[in-house]
Formats: sequence, structure tokens, C-alpha cells
Amino acid sequence: MNSNFTVHKRKILLIYTGGTIGMIKNPESGALESFDFEHLSRHLPELAEFDCDIQAYQFNPPVDSSDMSPALWCDIVRVVSDFHPLVDGFVILHGTDTMAYTASALSFMLENIGKPVILTGSQLPIGVLRTDGRENIINAIELAAQFDEHGNPLIQEVAVYFDQKLLRGNRTTKCSADNFSAFTSYNLEPLATTGINIKYNFPILLRPDKSAPFTPHFHMDASVIAITLFPGISQRIIQHVFDSEDVKGIVLRTFGAGNAPRLQWLLDAVRKATLKGKVVVNITQCQQGTVQMGMYATGDQLRKAGVVSGHDMTVECAVTKLMFLFAQNLNADDVRRLMEQNLAGELTVGELS
Ligand code: ASP
Repeated sequence: MNSNFTVHKRKILLIYTGGTIGMIKNPESGALESFDFEHLSRHLPELAEFDCDIQAYQFNPPVDSSDMSPALWCDIVRVVSDFHPLVDGFVILHGTDTMAYTASALSFMLENIGKPVILTGSQLPIGVLRTDGRENIINAIELAAQFDEHGNPLIQEVAVYFDQKLLRGNRTTKCSADNFSAFTSYNLEPLATTGINIKYNFPILLRPDKSAPFTPHFHMDASVIAITLFPGISQRIIQHVFDSEDVKGIVLRTFGAGNAPRLQWLLDAVRKATLKGKVVVNITQCQQGTVQMGMYATGDQLRKAGVVSGHDMTVECAVTKLMFLFAQNLNADDVRRLMEQNLAGELTVGELS
């Protein structure tokens, strides 16, 4: 053994933002309310058994993730960037309800992070006997603390760990309100699965651009809306939204491969909005698959009116990507171009898109 070779103890920062995982029942109302990190760690004596230094940072007060906001995402980015030189990886404890939005937002805001940022939470509070929180936290820390023989972290991107699966953060969707398997990534295989052994899907793991620094971003522009199309959608409501001065970006949740009803007023609204510098992005309402606007006349008309393809992005990702790009002071054409490009592993570019 080479006695000069020492591996330092890995340091992981556990950021507790809130969510069911740390909640306890209010004895009077019976509702679950957020509690503090001490409560959480008391129920997790296993934390002391890890062969790494685990430090904790708590949001005060902890938030139910329904109350997450772009301002709180910026707070998370601030904590991550402050600790970035000091620790080897991050595990973020977060409510499940909006975890997919936070994971997507962070994937853009923590540009070129180069270290693991793993979000997790639970469906049952940590103090409950059948909690899924214990399994989720322990595996998330384990994944954040794994390094290769050159000392590089195996995961170097924003991810979500839940129920034996590590998923790319900006590909995840909360798919169940009550199953332990609450998250899925319809358009990308898991980055890793945790059975008896941890199996990594090495070919799809993201690697940072070594020639560029880690660049945290602290602004989001929320002038964005998502509209789900349905047969019979009201012309007045659509026109109202498309005409609004407050709206810069519209995620249009279309049918199938990116199709919309052939209504002249809808196309006119899109065309007018595009000319005024708004960005309209096509995302399919289907859980799995991609937008291919060239496939049917009902999709092609949207492309001709100025709609850009969101490819196979989730709606959570499209919304937060627009917020991120609008905050970069880009012009509308640049935002349109970048919405169609892969920035952080969030989309697969297809031939017909
Ligand atoms: N309402 C909770 C939250 O998202 C649900 C959960 O954590 O699972 O904060």
C-alpha cells in the first residue's frame, strides 16, 4: 500500500427545505406540519454510520413544497454555491409536490455544477414506522458520496432519488400522489438503480465542461404561463392570455405529437404574440414521447405560426427553462433557439421535431 495516498473523508451537505419527510402531525388539527432538522435527524440515527462528514443546513422555516418559489430556488442556489468549494456533494430534502420543478430549475441555475446535487423526500414522514424517507435519504447520501478511482464524483448533475431510482432532475415528473414510487422519468432511463448493488447507467451520465467554471445563476423571470389545450377551449380566454403584457413565454400543452385544433383565431393569436416577442413552446400533453410538429398538418400550422418545439421536455422543465432564459436578458430569438437546444440533458432532439 502506498502510504502517501490518502483519501479524504467525503463531505456531504444535507439541505433541508421542508416537505413531508420532516413533518409531524398537529395533535389538534391532525394536519401534517413542517418540523425542524433535529426532529428529522433524531429519527435517522443511521446518519452517524456513514463514512463521510454530513453537515446540515436548514431552511427556516421549512416549507411545504407547494410554497416553493423562484425566490426560494435562488436561496437554494446561494447555499449550494457558498458550500460548493467546501463539500463533495449535496442532498436536498424537499417536498415531493413540486420537487420536479425545483430539480428542473436547479439543473439550469447550477450551470456546470460538476458535483452531485440529489433531491429526495418521502411520501410518509420520517417518524412513521413504514416511512419511505429512511430508504430515500440513505440511498441519496450514498449516491452523492460515490467517487471513481480518479476522485471524480460518479454523479455530477442535478438528480432526483426516489424508491430505488436515481432520475435526471429535469426529466422527472411526480406521477403518483400515494405510491412510494412517486416519480418517474418518461423519456429517459434512470441514471442509476439501487438494488443489492447500485447500477449506474454510465453512458447517459452528464459530465461538466472542464474548460468552463461552475456558474450559479440567481435570477428567474416568472413571466411565464402553461396552457393545456382541450376541445372547446375559449377564444376569449386564450386571446386574453396571449395579449397580456405580463406574459413573455407560453408553454402550450398540445395533443399527441404536438397538434392543436385548426382554429384560425388560435393561429392568429400565436402569430401576433410571436411578432410581439413572446415565445410559444410546444409540449405534448402525453406523458411519454416527443413533439414532432412536422408530422401532421395540425402541428405544422403551429410551427408556421412561430411556435418552437419543446421536443420531449416535461412541462415542469419547459416552464423553468423559460424562466431561466428570460432572466438572462436574451432577445426572443435567442430564447426560441435555446428552448430547442439541449442545455442540461433536458431534451432529446429528434429528426421531425
Ligand atoms: N405537501 C408535501 C410537500 O410537497 C408533500 C410531500 O412532501 O410529499 O411539501
